[in-house]
Amino acid sequence: MSFLISKTTFQHFLHCPKDAWLKLHRPDLKEQFSFSEFELHLMEQGNEVESLARDLFPGGIEVSTRGEHAVEDTLRLMASKTPAIFQATFIHDGYIVRNDMLAYNTDTGLWDLYEVKGTNSMKLDQKERDHITDIAFQVSVMRRAGVPLGKAHLIHLNKEYVRQGDLVLSELFAIEEVTEAVEGRIPELEPKMEAAKEYLLRETEPAGNCDCLYATRRNHCSTFAYSNAEVPEYSVHDISRIHKTKLTNLIEQRIYALEDVDPEAHKLSEKQTNQVHAQQRKFPVIETEEIRSFLDSLVFPLHFFDYEAYAPAIPAFSGYGPYKFIPFQFSMHILDAPGGELRHVEFLHEEFSDPSDAVARKLQEIYTGGSVMVWHETFEKTIINVNIAKRLPQHAAFFERFNAAMVDLEKIFTSQHYIHHGFKGRTSIKKILPVLGEGFSYEQLAISEGGQASNEWWRMVGPTITPEEKQQIAENLKTYCGLDTEAMYVIYKHLTDVV
Ligand code: SF4
Repeated sequence: MSFLISKTTFQHFLHCPKDAWLKLHRPDLKEQFSFSEFELHLMEQGNEVESLARDLFPGGIEVSTRGEHAVEDTLRLMASKTPAIFQATFIHDGYIVRNDMLAYNTDTGLWDLYEVKGTNSMKLDQKERDHITDIAFQVSVMRRAGVPLGKAHLIHLNKEYVRQGDLVLSELFAIEEVTEAVEGRIPELEPKMEAAKEYLLRETEPAGNCDCLYATRRNHCSTFAYSNAEVPEYSVHDISRIHKTKLTNLIEQRIYALEDVDPEAHKLSEKQTNQVHAQQRKFPVIETEEIRSFLDSLVFPLHFFDYEAYAPAIPAFSGYGPYKFIPFQFSMHILDAPGGELRHVEFLHEEFSDPSDAVARKLQEIYTGGSVMVWHETFEKTIINVNIAKRLPQHAAFFERFNAAMVDLEKIFTSQHYIHHGFKGRTSIKKILPVLGEGFSYEQLAISEGGQASNEWWRMVGPTITPEEKQQIAENLKTYCGLDTEAMYVIYKHLTDVV
């Protein structure tokens, strides 16, 4: 089988050779490579950004064919000095390049290269290095293919941009010339490109465990289980904040299951020891005093509260910048007094417009005082409320009061006041609820996670939706968000029962 190495495959190889090989050669393992809703959303956003950035190049023509046909079409468009070519394609020596934009520079008679990224910064971090690598890969291949290249540019979103009325593309996008950085990268890159070709084109599957056997869970990709079949789903890689040296030690002794760990011998911290013991004894570790003091600090009426929000790369409404969240929904369960009846209030914005004012007004109608319980407070407090207050200063005083009353229920679990083997070392509400709330689960829901909820809302307020579909999505969203806040109540109730 022969493959052409694209810039995406090459980046993938740089991140992890084995994963890149498996994705190229083992499409039968597709199930294990499936993208999350969040990753799909990012890809979609990337396509939208690229398509809008094309408007910066009037007279541009897209190469819509593939493979050798695309190369022929590209050469034809270059011969007629087309002002800009989208998806210009070149194949050389086992590599394939498809440019976002290749623009003819009438002053120099050369072709300038533009790479569009849906990110909103040029900071000198890993991402920026990746962008330069992407462009350097293209320049290296195109130069060898004989393309008369001029300057290289990166087009990214301007994070300072705030939409006011119509989109202003010249302000939304920042264009940086990166020729020098790209030239500096090429010498170190070309040997790696050769190595990638050699590794990725081999027919035999790389044998044995992969490198992440020695890395904690958050570093693992979707093929970890395939490459490390002897490691259980919940393993030493999940031990909270485990140091690399301790993890290496355990792996070198081939200790994978928590059941086989001796916390003392491996000098685990108290919290790590508790986590291991909870798994070994299949019995929860509960710090009742800490939980009691948390519960005692709550002020009735209690509000169990959650937002759903959508963050488009291209700001949809005035007052928003790239990737700023649109709060389209909230759910609130209210407990007026200990042992009282639980009330439910909800809000869902069903039109294509900014919901901020309606959200603020509805909340002020409902909320008069008392604790506001959330799960992972940064999102509700900072990402949503602070930004609504900035957009609508007339509501700033309310959100200050609302935020001051906020209490993060997740902290009970992140602080390990309650450890249960069923949580498998995680603290997301989706992991905690099925363990502490018998009969409650997200599994059967049509919408079962936040990324899916925001994509569905965007579809619901889009132009092509039918009334029936709209109604169905609205119902699904209400069920999902309602379960999030009911879940918090169920967990709160469980904690009160325990102490
Ligand atoms: S789990 Fe890590 S080392 Fe293993 S294939 Fe994935 S990224 Fe590579």
